[in-house]
Amino acid sequence: MSRKQVFQFLEMPREMPRRIPVELRTAGDWGELYGRFGAQEASHQSGRCLDCGNPYCSWKCPVHNAIPQWLQLVQENRIREAAELCHSTNPLPEVCGRVCPQDRLCEGSCTLNDGFGAVTIGAVEKYIVDTAFEQGWRPDLSAVEPTGHRVAVVGAGPAGIACADRLARVGIQAVVYDRYEQIGGLLQFGIPTFKLDKAVIARRREVLEGMGIQFRLGVEVGRDVTLEQLLEEYDAVFLGTGAYRYTDGGLPGQDAEGVLPALPFLVQNGRIVTGADPATAQSRPIAGWEDHIKLPDLAGRRVLVLGGGDTGMDCVRSAIRLGAARVTCAYRRDEASMPGSAREVANAREEGVRFLFNRQPLAIETDELNRVTGVRVVETKLGEPDARGRRVAVPIEGSESVIEADVVIIAFGFSPTVPEWMTKLGIEGTSNGRILAGGGERLPYQTSHPRVFAGGDAVRGADLVVTAVAEGRDAAASIAELLGAQPPVRTPQYAE
Ligand code: FAD
Ligand code: SF4
Repeated sequence: MSRKQVFQFLEMPREMPRRIPVELRTAGDWGELYGRFGAQEASHQSGRCLDCGNPYCSWKCPVHNAIPQWLQLVQENRIREAAELCHSTNPLPEVCGRVCPQDRLCEGSCTLNDGFGAVTIGAVEKYIVDTAFEQGWRPDLSAVEPTGHRVAVVGAGPAGIACADRLARVGIQAVVYDRYEQIGGLLQFGIPTFKLDKAVIARRREVLEGMGIQFRLGVEVGRDVTLEQLLEEYDAVFLGTGAYRYTDGGLPGQDAEGVLPALPFLVQNGRIVTGADPATAQSRPIAGWEDHIKLPDLAGRRVLVLGGGDTGMDCVRSAIRLGAARVTCAYRRDEASMPGSAREVANAREEGVRFLFNRQPLAIETDELNRVTGVRVVETKLGEPDARGRRVAVPIEGSESVIEADVVIIAFGFSPTVPEWMTKLGIEGTSNGRILAGGGERLPYQTSHPRVFAGGDAVRGADLVVTAVAEGRDAAASIAELLGAQPPVRTPQYAE
């Protein structure tokens, strides 16, 4: 592949698309933070790629995107071909371009990170797909022969969507069930609009329906329809049910007025921001998980968010847009150990969020009416690595203090569960609630039931959109193999 100007990165600095000014964000603007490149900017930024010969970016990307190749197509203004190539590895490229923590993945391993600034891979990916869709490009399935096979996909999140997409591409009819009234899973009901505009999900739904994928929304499997019924009606089932068991931390006083769990807060607020009815009868929380909370007015209040992951960052930045007087994030390890994207932390800081690192919460402080007044914390230092290799936060004796707050949002994370409607059909899980899939004699992503497959957060535990996409995509390849259909390619050929 020829390059016009190999050393373009020396003259052309790394630039991200323009962002909504911070004054508008702090005044309550919920629009997507980053705009989109124009054709010239996209071409210039793509031209910074060195084509270094060993594309670490592609290897580090969980779906192994053909990044140098589509950067070259952008320089040649061959956007439809670039979109085709993006979709060959990734069923949701416009979403990943927006929400992937690129600093930890593709851009984090770009050779130019060595002092020049990585190529803006995510922003170019978003540019390619948004532009191609606007130009009328759609996946072309005209040569696909129907196989007559039908597969039920449980969960319309990234894992389920990716699986359905790949099944459709080899002529297998995918029917996707979700308990919510819209597709997207956490993309729709979790991630706020300032990271991902919900029109992106609506457009993707049109594209998927155009590919022949059917959706049965507002249907909860295990309640409205059983897994046995799905296995009778379909040749195979894919479970992409996500991770919704809330980690509450067991803090004394956490039932006080003004203490909120993170996801219900984000979901409810997201419904309000997008103009949906917050109490819509079709949206059903998972049994025992209450997502119809009454949101307190945060305007002028002191909000404290406990937890430093993606969910915590979405909570602090939402609280800023809701007019909170002061927003603080308390995290028990140091900044370098934060699990989320460094870019999101920088955006939060710019919006005025205060970070208190090395603070471990001990108890919620309340007044005589059981209303929250603050959180008692102890300072920590980092100790030895735990079983997962993360250094343990060790409390420092005598360092307790209280962080005052009117509202406390708990964002300690989520884990999956294997519900009874799965276990009674013999589907095995791990002790920490993950569905067991693959391994031994099984096909990748095949569960202990030969016709049931699983992937995404339900198998990995709470993780990332792009890893859920990779697993849904590759589970479809296993399903196609089981059904004797031509399997979609698992590992892209160029990456072999
Ligand atoms: P989900 O997206 O959770 O989808 C599962 C779907 O299954 C849901 O729609 C659910 O309704 C449905 N379902 C469950 N049980 C049933 C049932 N019995 N019947 C019918 N339907 C059912 N990742 C990133 O990469 N970048 C980010 O910026 C980012 N931000 C995040 C912010 C928040 C607040 C949260 C909570 C997560 C974030 N993540 C982010 C993680 C990412 O959203 C998830 O890893 C990803 O969505 C997992 O995809 P999934 O398809 O496995 O599950
Ligand atoms: Fe980077 Fe994510 Fe796109 Fe892969 S899918 S190239 S990791 S933004």
